[in-house]
Amino acid sequence: MADDKKLTTRAEDFSAWYNELVLRSELADYSPVKGSMVIRPNGYGIWERMQRALDDMFKETGHQNAYFPLFIPESFLKKEAQHVEGFAPECAVVTHGGGKELEEPLVVRPTSETIIYHMFAKWTQSYRDLPILINQWANVVRWEMRTRLFLRTLEFLWQEGHTAHATHDEAEEEAVRMLNVYRRFMEGWMAMPVITGLKSESEKFAGALRTYSCEAMMQDNKALQAGTSHNLGQNFAKAFELQFQDEKGEMAFAWNTSWGVSTRMVGGLVMTHGDDNGLRTPPRLAPIEIVIVPIWKNDDEKARLTAAALKVKDELTSWTGRGATDRLRVHVDLRDGMRSGAKYYEWELRGVPLRFELGPKDLDKQAVFAARRDTREKQSLPMDGLPAAAAALLERIQQDMFEAARARREANSVRGEISYAQFRELMEGKGGFVYAGWCGDAACEAKVKEDTKATIRVMPDPEFRSPVAPATCLCCGKPSMAEAIWARAY
Ligand SMILES: [Zn+2]
Repeated sequence: MADDKKLTTRAEDFSAWYNELVLRSELADYSPVKGSMVIRPNGYGIWERMQRALDDMFKETGHQNAYFPLFIPESFLKKEAQHVEGFAPECAVVTHGGGKELEEPLVVRPTSETIIYHMFAKWTQSYRDLPILINQWANVVRWEMRTRLFLRTLEFLWQEGHTAHATHDEAEEEAVRMLNVYRRFMEGWMAMPVITGLKSESEKFAGALRTYSCEAMMQDNKALQAGTSHNLGQNFAKAFELQFQDEKGEMAFAWNTSWGVSTRMVGGLVMTHGDDNGLRTPPRLAPIEIVIVPIWKNDDEKARLTAAALKVKDELTSWTGRGATDRLRVHVDLRDGMRSGAKYYEWELRGVPLRFELGPKDLDKQAVFAARRDTREKQSLPMDGLPAAAAALLERIQQDMFEAARARREANSVRGEISYAQFRELMEGKGGFVYAGWCGDAACEAKVKEDTKATIRVMPDPEFRSPVAPATCLCCGKPSMAEAIWARAY
């Protein structure tokens, strides 16, 4: 049960605010195993809604779900040189099982490219077997002791898509398609605007040809890499002998993609939308969209208002105006011996988008008193036509949350001429996204990171680029090869 103590404010200490919010709104808790976390029902409910929406999108784009094992032979990871170099330091390795030392150690999957492409190789003979379009929902382990709930834990939940194609162009099209699926989900469901683009060589996935990313700005002006999609080229196909006979009867290596998003998105949602009163959940991802709080002073009122609240709930949940399978998600708070103010406080902390207060006067008027969580605006809504009005208001909240997040991001983005000294000052101070040139040299990226902790988040897709391309590199002043977004990141 939440106590009435105020959260540390975002302005005081953003990191403390985040931790308190996650714990007090009961999204997650620390586990006795250092580095791990427990996802509580309030947090898991959001993850389930994320899963459902994404899973529908994956299936609409032709993918099927499958499941591959948790354990991967250690030798598999060593087959792709860059991949093992990237992941070896984070791997958990099982050396004993059933009381005996294993002949070959098993790695607990940090990601599943190796075992999945091994299996794809077994299943692929001819071009007719391609494309293979598979997704799996799973947990992965990357050994990490600096725990931050949802953002950095040694075990996390995710989905990983893995595909095999006959040509480079098909794989490239798939990698970009899935990046855009992620963008559509993050903007449409999470109300979290993202910038899509290409990662630099030093920031790309270990073993990929190209990595694309969705980057969002959190309220402390740091970037969160919210999802990535990789064109793996033929690197894994060659390592795992994933070959097929093409139309001319010749043997060729397949082209792979992989793409993933994780429970990290729940952290992104908190840091995009939370305020000093707690979480604000975008309605489409809220396990409860509307909480009804009946208000009574005596037993007589209690009976009358409880019945009225349950009737309102029934009308809301039986309404099919959003489609038969997308009913309004409503909860009635009938807890006794608790002040209504304490109930409001708790539902605000938990981020329920809309609260309906129902007291004797509201009932006499045949109305509910509606309070929006995002803006805290209040209005009376007549019971007549309530379901449609509630659905419209939820939709309004969803749009307004997205617009507010986008306006905040733009207000904290810097474009145009900026000196390296000004950039350093900005990164030490309020931070933000800086659109500036890059000469293409990894040495400049390394120097900027060393000096400021900022990295190139992406070289943005055309729609995000500045009207006038930057002429020179932010760091060395040589001619710019590409516009890049520089920022500190989670
Ligand atoms: Zn440079």
